[in-house]
Amino acid sequence: MATPSIAIIGAGPSGLALARLLECRGISYVVYERDASAAVFIRNGGTLDIHASTGQRALVEGGLLAEFEKYARYDASIFRLWDRHGTQYIQHERGNDFPEIDRGDLRRIYLEAIPQDKIRWGKGLKRVTRGEDGVPVLEFADGTTASGFRLVVGADGAWSKVRSLINDVKPQYCGIHIIETRISPTNPVYSQVQSRVGKGMLLVGGPHKMITLQNLGDESYRMYLGVQVPADIATDGKVDFSDTEAMRTLCLSSDFFGDDWAAEFRAYISNSTDFRPWPLYHIPPASVAWDAVPGVTLVGDAAHLGPPSGEGANFAMTDALYLADKLAEHDDWAKNDEARDRAVRAYEVEMFERGAELIERGVRMTEVFYAEDSPHPTVELFREKGVSVSEKEA
Ligand SMILES: Cc1cc2nc3c(=O)[nH]c(=O)nc-3n(C[C@H](O)[C@H](O)[C@H](O)COP(=O)(O)OP(=O)(O)OC[C@H]3O[C@@H](n4cnc5c(N)ncnc54)[C@H](O)[C@@H]3O)c2cc1C
Repeated sequence: MATPSIAIIGAGPSGLALARLLECRGISYVVYERDASAAVFIRNGGTLDIHASTGQRALVEGGLLAEFEKYARYDASIFRLWDRHGTQYIQHERGNDFPEIDRGDLRRIYLEAIPQDKIRWGKGLKRVTRGEDGVPVLEFADGTTASGFRLVVGADGAWSKVRSLINDVKPQYCGIHIIETRISPTNPVYSQVQSRVGKGMLLVGGPHKMITLQNLGDESYRMYLGVQVPADIATDGKVDFSDTEAMRTLCLSSDFFGDDWAAEFRAYISNSTDFRPWPLYHIPPASVAWDAVPGVTLVGDAAHLGPPSGEGANFAMTDALYLADKLAEHDDWAKNDEARDRAVRAYEVEMFERGAELIERGVRMTEVFYAEDSPHPTVELFREKGVSVSEKEA
């Protein structure tokens, strides 16, 4: 079988969106994904809001909007902001441009639209080098290699291995861990959470901390406990995230969500299950600009990893759209190196500014969300955006 023109490393939102867009444009490609199978892959993850002007455009161009609409939750748009004592400041209807979809459902939509033989599971990239002819050689953790591609696209997220062909930038810890937990429909606190959050999202701010509650497509709630802790909290051997009781005790201790938090939120924590660490990293905004590297580029978090700003997946899918468009515009790119490099450069130049701004926005939002007097700076941010603020006991 002839070597496909493009190797995409990673089957997250950016890699899958790119694969589908290349499929639609008749460009040959293969996706290498570290996860062992599609089944493992679909079980992971929370919910993403996919915006009309960015992420949804990639779905439209990939002919998948109708599929997206089957899973998207357009009624999940109510956003509430409280403080840790239970005072509500904001109840805001975000409108129809921000439907939520579970990560698993987004992946499922793409996986059903991409031929199965074009995704290779269990292919964790260990290293990329250059062969004697200068063409990138992919070395996988299972000992196999692959090469001969016209273009290698790093869609391999925060800890991208492909990035090493472009620069030596390493992600920096933002000082914050999101501890992800779950409240399922059989949980004793479920009906209370449901009456508070409904199908939308609730943010609760306290000094240097944040709780986020979000409803998922399977009716369960994801609770994200945002805390300032050392980077190695999940790996230093002192905390076992698989020990539910130990995690509940830790999260209820005075350094975390102690008794200065309303009893209601502490009850949510003492009934949560499935604790999972999610350390937040970012790369410096200035590193989202590099000299052109023949035959290699990056999309999504691999290119512009920032702290969460509600846009990361949307921008990742937008990158895929721009890259696929630029390749389609330079239709001799598959035979002509110069045309290929021009197409990739045109994509990169557009992405650099957008990517750097995304990181800056995420850093600013993190400072605001995790301020000493949180949630007040968040309240002000929304007020400046014209969102109505009124203080009341929730
Ligand atoms: C707590 C949290 C909440 C968020 N909420 C939102 C939100 O509401 N809206 C939003 O737009 N964004 C959100 N984001 C950001 C969003 O998750 C990311 O920006 C987005 O997933 C980036 O997509 P990606 O495809 O570039 O990378 P990823 O989603 O990280 O996907 C990378 C893929 O590459 C694979 N991979 C990694 N390394 C290798 C390797 N060496 N070899 C082969 N495969 C590899 C991985 O298994 C994965 O499948 C959130 C982020 C966090 C941390």
